[in-house]
Amino acid sequence: MIGEPPRSQGDLNFTLLGIPVRIHPLFWLVTAALGYAPNVGAAELLTWMVAVLLSILVHELGHAGVMRAYGLQPWITLYGMGGLTSYDPSRSSGSKGTDTLGQILISLAGPAAGFLLAAVLAAGLLLAERGGYAGYLLFASPFRLRPYVIGLANLRLGQFLNDLFFICTLWGLVNLLPIYPLDGGHISREILLRFFGRRGIRLSLMLSIVVAGLMAVYGIVKWHDWFLALLFGYFAYSSYATLQAYAGRDF
Ligand SMILES: [Zn+2]
Repeated sequence: MIGEPPRSQGDLNFTLLGIPVRIHPLFWLVTAALGYAPNVGAAELLTWMVAVLLSILVHELGHAGVMRAYGLQPWITLYGMGGLTSYDPSRSSGSKGTDTLGQILISLAGPAAGFLLAAVLAAGLLLAERGGYAGYLLFASPFRLRPYVIGLANLRLGQFLNDLFFICTLWGLVNLLPIYPLDGGHISREILLRFFGRRGIRLSLMLSIVVAGLMAVYGIVKWHDWFLALLFGYFAYSSYATLQAYAGRDF
């Protein structure tokens, strides 16, 4: 639905734990735009960007690790819409990774990797507090947008850990919503396909439209966040467009 962007001159290519990674220039632009506000300084913005880069890489490495375990050969792309881990379907024959369970585990592994990093961070910070290295810690509900306060003597490190924890938990939770093209959308498709056959694809698209639409409304009413509203509005629209493409077919 939202495919990989074409290769460009500004691409950054490297290998991480044996997995090829490509960063498209739009990734930096969108990440900077997300962290920018009139009162945000250059160092703060840069810290935010490193936290986004690290948490998205951890998320995608979660997907890639499970793909590898299934004998698939994954690669990671970071682009304007976040991250994407893909494998060549023509070289996946015989792998259980393409089964329902395999696909679900691959999708779950991204958010799970982020939650794991957040848990390690939380444990480390609690220990730091006990040891007197951190002033105060407060982990509040992840459903509020900026709930975490980590008091460290080094403000920049405190901000970095805050951002990292925030992105790993919130982005992991958002990714589990049954919305295309998020991980939760892939999971709901696999489950509904299993129960309803080909009709399951249409059902999962309908579910995606409803949940994305609700999130768009919630984004405006509750968080007054137009970016979130636009993002989920776009997801609802693209699910609707895909559903239309299925209309008139026999399933
Ligand atoms: Zn993912």
